[in-house]
Amino acid sequence: MLDPFGKHAQEILKEFGSINDLLEVIPNHIGIDMALERVKWLKSGEVPQHILRFDEWKDLISFYALLGALAFSPYGLEMELVKEANLRIYLARIEKSRNFSELALPIEKVQADELPRKDRTILEKSLHKELPSEEKEKYLLQYKIALKDFLMLNEDSLKGFYIKGGYVYLNRSQLIELWKRSFGRNMERAVNILYEIREELPQYYMELYSGLSEIAREQFKERLERLGSATAQPLRFELFPPCIKIVLNGVPSGLRNYGITVLLTSFLSYARICPNPSKRDVKVKDCIKDLKVIKEEILPVIVQAGNRCSPPLFQDQPNEIKNIWYHLGFGYTLEPNLEDSGSSTWYFPPNCEKIRASAPQLCKPDRDCRYIRNPLTYYLRKLYLESKKEKSTGENNE
Ligand code: SF4
Repeated sequence: MLDPFGKHAQEILKEFGSINDLLEVIPNHIGIDMALERVKWLKSGEVPQHILRFDEWKDLISFYALLGALAFSPYGLEMELVKEANLRIYLARIEKSRNFSELALPIEKVQADELPRKDRTILEKSLHKELPSEEKEKYLLQYKIALKDFLMLNEDSLKGFYIKGGYVYLNRSQLIELWKRSFGRNMERAVNILYEIREELPQYYMELYSGLSEIAREQFKERLERLGSATAQPLRFELFPPCIKIVLNGVPSGLRNYGITVLLTSFLSYARICPNPSKRDVKVKDCIKDLKVIKEEILPVIVQAGNRCSPPLFQDQPNEIKNIWYHLGFGYTLEPNLEDSGSSTWYFPPNCEKIRASAPQLCKPDRDCRYIRNPLTYYLRKLYLESKKEKSTGENNE
């Protein structure tokens, strides 16, 4: 198997109907230790031969088992571990392959007479007699991809690419680089889909996730020591999704209760105190030891956003504060204790589809909304990207 998101993989997966059905049966076929084998080797640096030789079915289910586990924390060290290990596994196979038609890339084979001879001679270095034939093969423009598809995957400069008639022509290494990007995107997309159904996944995936976490902590130990834990941390407003920024600025009367009480309250509370709930039906008291963080960091932001509404929400409806506590899981109250958490459900942020259905005016997607399906994952993704940026800055400064 060259690509778990490619055409061949999709045909195999089709037999299972939905992804939920596939994830239901995986635990009957593969143990947790076996699934973890796919990532455990990363520290040693070399992909073990027996993993490269997995049969298609084993390869596919061990990969999708890991994706199922990532549904419990779509952006974090676990994601990085799974991405890096699997990228290396598939890359090792792709580099040995001569047929890329199986990859999840909308590419076409280039015909022999398709390009001007002069261009080919220069780009494919055909006059360079000193180059061995295997070296020359690297320069052959064998595949093309429509420019619009290319730009979806490669947002960097087009420098170094040969473009003609609305297509980008690719040599082998350019194609592989593009595949790496598509693999990362496809993984993100898949994990975001699974994030929505994580409540329905068998316990197996939560256990697998714990195993992944342990390996990831060991693998990225130095980074963790430098940056601290990627779990609960002060809110970073600049990384919030557009819908939350709109609510923070205050919304008109028809949107106030949904925007402030349902969306903002759930978003801020999970983002601040429990970005990756470790279990289903999590309660606030599972994540914090006293209510200080809610009273001093979350509630003031909610009240200020309510005051910016027109008319101001809490002046108009003073009891709405009780409803805020209700949505945080403390029941309908003004004076909660930590022990009260669990008296009502701690509402999870609604997904984007629900937001669009309930309050379409709040959804003004930006580029980063493309791969997520919930405002919380938007924020987690941005935190993850920031921490990667900080990592590379840190490394450059060393
Ligand atoms: S796509 Fe989702 S995260 Fe983005 S603005 Fe719309 S609701 Fe918010």
